[in-house]
Amino acid sequence: MDTCTWIGQGECCTQASIEGRSYCTDHIWLVYKEGTRLARRKKDLKTVDSVRTWQTLMDEAVQELEEEGWDFRLERWEPET
Ligand SMILES: [Zn+2]
Repeated sequence: MDTCTWIGQGECCTQASIEGRSYCTDHIWLVYKEGTRLARRKKDLKTVDSVRTWQTLMDEAVQELEEEGWDFRLERWEPET
């Protein structure tokens, strides 16, 4: 089983990642939120390298979550139908 690749304030996450994903259920959502926050600040940033990194992570997280059925509006998994 893979481990979450989240590195927050220098502390690596030790939780198991979602099967086939890079992050655990806690951090894949944090990656999405952080990416959104930084994307909003994009206009104000002189350098965009860190933003681009976060956007890449966000895009990956969004795609993965949507594939898994995550509802971003409701912030929960959509029920199986
Ligand atoms: Zn994690």
